[in-house]
Amino acid sequence: MQTSTTFPSAPPAAPESGFDAFIKDMRGELGPDAVSIAGETLDRYGEHTLPSPDNRPAAVLYPASTTEVQRIVQAANRHKVQLFPISTGQNIGLGSKSPMCPGQVVVDLGRHMNRVIEVNEVLGYCEVEPGVSFQSLYDELNKRGSRLMMSPTAGPPQGSLLGNALDKGGGGGAAADHFGSVCGMEVVLGNGDIIRTGDGSLQAAEHLNWHVSKYSFGPALDGLFTQSNYGIVTRAGIWLMLRPPHIEPFFFSAADDDDLDEVIELVRPLKQTNFVPTQIRVTNDLYLIAAAESNPEYTTSGGRTQISDEARRALQHKHGLGSWNISGALFGASKQAVAPQIDRLRAHFAKSSKIRYIPPEEAQAVAPLDIARKNYLGIPSDGELRMLNWRPGGGTAWFLPGMPMNGLIAHQMQKHAREICRQHGLEYMVSNVCGPRFARGVHTLVFNRNDPDEAARADQCYRALAASYAERGVFVGRAPTMYQQFHQEQRMSGIVQACDAIKRALDPNGVIAPGKYGIR
Ligand code: ADP
Repeated sequence: MQTSTTFPSAPPAAPESGFDAFIKDMRGELGPDAVSIAGETLDRYGEHTLPSPDNRPAAVLYPASTTEVQRIVQAANRHKVQLFPISTGQNIGLGSKSPMCPGQVVVDLGRHMNRVIEVNEVLGYCEVEPGVSFQSLYDELNKRGSRLMMSPTAGPPQGSLLGNALDKGGGGGAAADHFGSVCGMEVVLGNGDIIRTGDGSLQAAEHLNWHVSKYSFGPALDGLFTQSNYGIVTRAGIWLMLRPPHIEPFFFSAADDDDLDEVIELVRPLKQTNFVPTQIRVTNDLYLIAAAESNPEYTTSGGRTQISDEARRALQHKHGLGSWNISGALFGASKQAVAPQIDRLRAHFAKSSKIRYIPPEEAQAVAPLDIARKNYLGIPSDGELRMLNWRPGGGTAWFLPGMPMNGLIAHQMQKHAREICRQHGLEYMVSNVCGPRFARGVHTLVFNRNDPDEAARADQCYRALAASYAERGVFVGRAPTMYQQFHQEQRMSGIVQACDAIKRALDPNGVIAPGKYGIR
């Protein structure tokens, strides 16, 4: 999938004079099957959904152990080759499997390093390798008859639990904070050293505390390996929650765009008191509907204009959704036990005449809401990904800022962002994942990647949104690879230099993904 559009991207990978020698060493050390330079493979790993050309890697490696990852990093240092690690590479809208720039060597950890090493039923955690996906962990827990559950993303079931946590992704249930659930890692640093963080660093015969103690001796290093290029994480402990006897998803909606102010004001106390244990999603109409429909006006508009208000209203009506749709879940001993809590929730939202309760029987019949329902129940589903069919051409870029949980601010921001999308002829699609103080706004720009004009507008739209949020001190929580350098340049120089200095200390030859999150 290649567009003819040219966009500023990361600089090209350094000339790889030692590339042939690197490949020869790798074939010898890992075996020929662990090294691919086949054209079809490189094309596939280079594909992404962003409005810039594909980034074809020079090779793909498939290590099977931490020792093999260490050999790869050591060889990359010897031959000055640049690597790009992925767990499962399902980072759709953010770069997928493709490296920072053409010519880097993708290290695909997921193919062979996909073991659930331990499930600790008593303490509630698992230890996993990078290739363990939401689906495979779900299956493994079921197979073991485990009492534990995880909170999958609403994205691809084949996405990696660890990869998602390292990129600060989130899920839908009570254990939605994926990086927050990580405790204790094993990492191959850019200089080839292997370290274990937390209590795993102790010289001892066993490590009882590695995956339970976050407050170990010395600086907390786990965070260094999120959204960075200092090391390759080869295993980690991830906390799971005890599955409640009953999970009751709930749904409400508000009819108009301008109702967001009241919605946010009513959602905030539900999180601040922890009355609702899951995160609460406040999702707009088109974000949900796009998973079930394609844009009915695309043929006539040629994708140049945003969908009309009339067509949007007709779609809302067809699916029984409002401009804003609220969802979350309550936990309890049984459906009957949760019923009084649902009544309290209804009474709470009834303080606004604009908010309507969607009873479970009605919600079940609305296909787009079923995606959220599964998510709260902890069942992986690829439902949200279907929104890529909203327009032809499979393009999507994710813009992921946050906002304070303040109704007025939320309202101002949505108005402004909606207008920026309109100016660029794209639909405004957002899901606000609300906590007690902060909501992450998952904005998905869906565009035709085969249409250079539309791809260029998506690119400009992303940059305009980012610039406008940045004016108010609102930064992104994750970024597509093609915008990471752009975002790094929005920061104060001291922090950029600090990130680069850590890079030089841990990866002096810059072999791991130079340019990732703007770090060189
Ligand atoms: P997912 O499939 O869960 O979306 P990816 O494999 O696409 O995750 O990885 C998401 C991001 O995290 C990418 O930028 C990737 O470089 C980084 N990443 C993934 N796994 C690792 C790892 N084990 N060590 C270091 N960085 C990683």
